[in-house]
This record gives sequence, structure tokens and C-alpha cells, in this order.
Amino acid sequence: MAYMKTEQTACILCSRNCGLRVDIDTGRFARIRGNEEHPISKGYVCQKAARLDHYQNHDDRLQHPLKRQPDGSFTRVPWDEALTDIAARLLSIRERHGGDAFAFVGGGGQGNHLGGAYSRQVLAAMKSRYVYNSLGQEKTGDFWVNGRLFGSQTCHTTEDVEHADYVLFIGCNPFQSHGIPNARDTLRDIKKNPHRTMVVIDPRRTETAKMAHIHLQLRPGTDAVLISAMLAIILRNGLHDRAFLSERCTGFETLEKELLTIPIEEYVRRADIPLADVERVARGFATSHSACVRIDLGIQHTLHTTLNGYLEKLLYLLTGNFGRKGGNNLHSFLLPLLGHTDERQPRKGKPLKRTAHHRMHPIGGIYPPNILPDEVLHPGEDRLRAVFVDSSNPVVTYADSQAYERAFKSLDLLVVVDVAMTETARLAHYVLPAASQFEKWEASGFNLEFPENFFHLRHPLLEPRGDSLPEPEIYTRLLEKMGIIPTRFPLLSRFARVHRRTPLAYLGALAVALAGHRAWMPFVASIMYRTLGPTLPAGAAVASCILPLAMAYAEQHRAAVRRAGHSGNRWTLGVELFRAILDGRSGVVLSRHEFADTWSLIKTKDRRVHLAIPEMLEELRALKTEAPSGTEYPFVLMAGERRTYNANQIYRDPAWRKVDKEGVMRMHPDDAALLDMANGAHASCRSVRGEIQVIIQIDDTVRPGVVTLPHGYGMRFRDSAPLGPQINVLTSSGHCDPFSKTPFHKYVPVHIRKLDEASA
Ligand code: SF4
Repeated sequence: MAYMKTEQTACILCSRNCGLRVDIDTGRFARIRGNEEHPISKGYVCQKAARLDHYQNHDDRLQHPLKRQPDGSFTRVPWDEALTDIAARLLSIRERHGGDAFAFVGGGGQGNHLGGAYSRQVLAAMKSRYVYNSLGQEKTGDFWVNGRLFGSQTCHTTEDVEHADYVLFIGCNPFQSHGIPNARDTLRDIKKNPHRTMVVIDPRRTETAKMAHIHLQLRPGTDAVLISAMLAIILRNGLHDRAFLSERCTGFETLEKELLTIPIEEYVRRADIPLADVERVARGFATSHSACVRIDLGIQHTLHTTLNGYLEKLLYLLTGNFGRKGGNNLHSFLLPLLGHTDERQPRKGKPLKRTAHHRMHPIGGIYPPNILPDEVLHPGEDRLRAVFVDSSNPVVTYADSQAYERAFKSLDLLVVVDVAMTETARLAHYVLPAASQFEKWEASGFNLEFPENFFHLRHPLLEPRGDSLPEPEIYTRLLEKMGIIPTRFPLLSRFARVHRRTPLAYLGALAVALAGHRAWMPFVASIMYRTLGPTLPAGAAVASCILPLAMAYAEQHRAAVRRAGHSGNRWTLGVELFRAILDGRSGVVLSRHEFADTWSLIKTKDRRVHLAIPEMLEELRALKTEAPSGTEYPFVLMAGERRTYNANQIYRDPAWRKVDKEGVMRMHPDDAALLDMANGAHASCRSVRGEIQVIIQIDDTVRPGVVTLPHGYGMRFRDSAPLGPQINVLTSSGHCDPFSKTPFHKYVPVHIRKLDEASA
């Protein structure tokens, strides 16, 4: 068969963003395979990428701006009419209630972060700081700990799984969730190498656990007691790295005192793991030539989220496996996905903005979606009244779907920007159609690699559908309608045209323009898009905001950028890097660091790791007296399991799944026997928050008393009823970590009852 064209792009389903080669035949992805030229994935893909046509082409794609009518139906409206009305309503809300009445939710999924530079400007236009997104639902406990240990919440860690002799996977299943370079190949390499060891700590015998040399199948929610027992074993046996601790860390003595009081046997009993196995792993990890820890939502969405993040980092810090090959390291960022907002430190002389109801502060600049419904629904005058949702579907993906529905229905203004008619869009006053990720210039900010980091600016492969627009155009038009920026910048535009080969001259002119109009400063992305953008090759206007980021990156990591093959002096290196990004259809290596550079990425003033975090030591002490909570809900549901055919919400057409169309609930055979259930039985699953129906699959990979459900289900397609389990009908926003407010999705107490045929 002859194809119209073959293009390079990337998979947008998980944070790996593997490089792809795609054969396109009349608007459809006829064939998808790995791209060998991609600098990181080098041709690797998993089975999910092959189904991407189900994202690009399906019946719920949005093509026109829609306005909700009083009867709940939607009417197609022109862009100009929609944006004029939205702008007027936003300005009126800001005028009457102040900027704090506005919040922004989302702003990018796994592969679409470039639009975020533009969408966040609406926050500045509204004079609000309230941005809520999925990082605040999952990762902020980890960011908080990083801030205390390494001096900044932007000090994000990575793990050199490919080179470690001893790899500890805690609460993650890379075989299905990926998250590490070329996951399945990497796991196979470890498995077949007799000199390397793979350990999995997980309540389920996952696909990764089946490949591991050792699997510690702990009781759900006991990660903190198990890891702290391992730390105590390491210390009591003198297996910690004294030289590293003395040269690179502070606070060890305080920490040591606490860890030595840990009752190892009791904690190991609580985790329900044989002591000998725990000792073997602690000793193996500490005495290996190199060892690293990879964690994920399994410990970030369960009891003690933030404490878990602290303890897992102590494993590699106490053993000196940090800042070295085969250990854990820090990495650079090109796109600033998060900031640093330490609740103890005022910013620009002002305390951090806390939310009106929960008085929650941001972490990494992000507020937790878990509290958003309360911030809308509380009766105070200072409640949220307008919300913009971008590339996100909070009604299905965040805890407590019922509360989200109630909250969003009560808003004065809800605007959703998305490629498809989501459950959240159905509640919106306006739904604005965005071009798909293959119809515009796009990029992922998940370039989190070390020592070699990369960036992939993806070129559009197809024309946008109908009237849909890329987000930069949507938000720039909105700012113009709000009167925040002019519609034309004649001088700057002319300067950009005349000096199209010397962007530094343009940047100088831009700096002069901004010095004369300081109020434009927060909207520089749109100003560059309108002025520098049209001069960029191949219509890459959206990428104009990358120029200052590339310059800042080259300035900060000059030696590493040069090591990656880019050349130029102090002023031109960033420009050359920018040009390489524009030209690199398969992505470009940004920098090659040396392992010792981890110490230059640390942000503490003394460049040492600050091990003793008072709040965490207090949490650690509290574990000793923690009593198991009595409950009428005998099962623990681990919600959000990653499987062969689930992904995030961007696959809405259920036809994409080859197996597990119902999203079955896994249940141990003993439990199924007790409840008199066979494979395929219908059951009711009830939590303190809600009730859903599920289909049972008997599966001895789960512990007795534990059941699991996948994420990525529960959406409607072509006006259907929700398809598969709506797990967030069961989750409760109040059941969450006290520091980060991230919900305990992996520890949902539930009651399960067999349904007879009539009720099912
Ligand atoms: S590993 Fe992730 S990014 Fe790569 S093909 Fe699979 S889902 Fe896509």
C-alpha cells in the first residue's frame, strides 16, 4: 500500500514520549512504529502507541466552539463571539470579586506542555495564583521533601536504572507504567544479568515483580514502616556510607538517633514480610557497587505519602548512592514545569497565597486538586467563582467525582479547552476546541533525564479539524479580547522581520519594549508569538517562547550543552541550541552532564543535603503509635492500576482496547470463594463516598483482602453511559496526606457484595 507520507513525532501517552515514525494516509495513522533516530527511545515503543489513531480520529472530537444553553444543550458559536463573551465575564468577575475568585486547572497532559506557557497567562490576567493540576494530585509530597533536602522544590530526582547493580522498585510497575528509559528492555537486561539484582516492593505481584529477583509483597499502606525498618537495619549494621554523609550531608546525627529507635521486628511484622527477606534487601542495597530507587504512585497515593517520599530518598542518601553513576541524581529542566514555593518563606515580602477554605499553600507553585471542590462550594464570599479547565478532565480523574460535579455546576463561569467532549466539558458554559497534539507544534516538558537530557519539539502532522485552534492562539486571542495586550505590536514585529537572522537583536528590542510597558511582562509568551513567531521557519510561531528558555538553559548548563555538541559563545550558545531544537525532527540532546554535576544542581546554600526534616521526623515517630483503623469496609481497593490497555483519558474511544474492555476488579481466590463469586461475577463496590458496579476477575497476584481497579475508564463515548469503573465515585478528597493533600487512591477502604443477575 502506498502511504501519503511518513513523519517523525512522539507518543503522547506517558511521560516517556517515545519517538515515533508514523505513516499517514488521508488523515489517518496507518502505521506507527518506533523511531530509531530518537535520541533517547532509539526505536523503543510499547503496544499502546500503535493505537494512537483512536486519539486522533474519533467521534467525540470537538471541532467548533460551543456555548451551553439554559436547557443544557450546546450551540455552535463563532470564536469571536465566544471569546468576547468569556473575556467580558472574566473581567466582570475580577472586578466584582477580585482575582482570587478564579482558578486554572490542568494545562497539559503527558505530551502537551508547550501550550502551558500561553494558558497560564490567563492567571496573570485575572491576577490569580490558583493553579491546580495533576502534579498537585500526585507529586507535590515528593516536591515538598525535595525542597527541604536539596534546597528547592525544583530539585527533582531521577534514577539511573540502566546502570545500577541493585534496583529497588517501590510502588511502581515499570513493565506497564514505564517511566524509566525503554522500560521493558531495561527490565529484561537487569533480569538476565547475574551480577544485577531487581527488587520490587508492591502489594501486588505485578508484571515487574514477576521478573524481579525478590518481591516483598507488603500489606497495603505499610510502605513507611517497611522502608524505615530497612533504614534502621542499614544503620544498625553499620552499612551506611560514613564518608559520603560527612562530606555531602548535614543533620545525619539527628536522623540517626531517630532511626535507631525503630522497632525493626515489629515494623516488619506490620508490613507482613519475613524479617530475613527485609534484611537481605537492606543489606543487598547498601552493599552493592551501585544502587538506585525508582518509585511512583504506589507510594505517592497511599498512606504517609510525603513521609514515604522522604524515606525512599534516605535509602540512597544514607548509602551514598546519590550523585553517581547507577544511583539517583538530579536533572535539568528546559521547560519550567514547577517552581519553588516554600510555605515558610515569603515571596517578594508577602506570605504565600493560601486558599480561602482549606488555607492550603502551593507546593512547587501548584495547589492540590483534591481541595478544589471545597474552595468552590464553601459559602464564603471569597469562594472560587470561575474556573478554566485545559487538557484535563477533573470530574473523572480527581478524587470525589460527585463533589466535582456539584462544584462545577455551581460556578458563575466554567470554560473547558480540550480536543474532545469530556465529562467536565459537558458541565461547561463554553467549550473551546483545541487542535490535537498531532495538528500543532507541541512538546513535552517531561525531559527529566540525567546525565543526558533531551527535548523534542514535534512538528504538526495534520491540519486542525474544523475550527479548532492551537492553545497559543486561543489564549493570545483571549488576552487581546480582555484588553490585556494590544492586537498589534508594529515596531517589534518589524524588528523581528528585519533581524530574523539575529534573534539576539530582537530580544534586545523586546527588553526595551517591556521596560516601557512593565504590565506586559507576564504576557511575554503571547507577545513573542505575535511578533517573533511569524518570522520562524515552517510556521513554528508557537515555539518562539522556547528561545529565552534555551538561552537560560545554555547559560546555566554551558559546559553540558557544549558537551552535547552545540557550539557558540556565551551569547550565541542559547540561540544555537534553539535552532537545533527547531530543526531536530526527532528531538535533540540538550546537554551531557557529568555525574558530579548533581552537586551543582543542588540549591541549598552550602550545597549539602539537609537530612533532618523536623516535620518528617515527627511523622516517623508517630508511626510507632499508629493504630490500625477499625472499619466496616473489609477490603482495601488499590485504585488506578496500570494495565496493558489502559492509558490516561485521551483515549476516549473504547475500541482502542484489545483486552480488558470492562476494566475488571482483581480479587484473590480466597476472597472470591468467601463471597461466592466466580470469574465474571457482577459485584457492588461501596466506599464511604459512593458505590459502583464492577466485574470480578479472580487473580492470585493480589493479596487476600486487597482488590484493584484500573484507571482510564468511566468516560462516556458518543453519549453512552460511563464505560467501565468510575473509580473516583469511590474516592474521597478528605482521605489524603496532611502535607500535600494528595489523595490515597491506593488505599480506599471498600465493601464488596455479590450482585444477582437482576441487580447487575
Ligand atoms: S512507553 Fe509510554 S511513551 Fe513509549 S510507547 Fe509506551 S505509552 Fe507511549
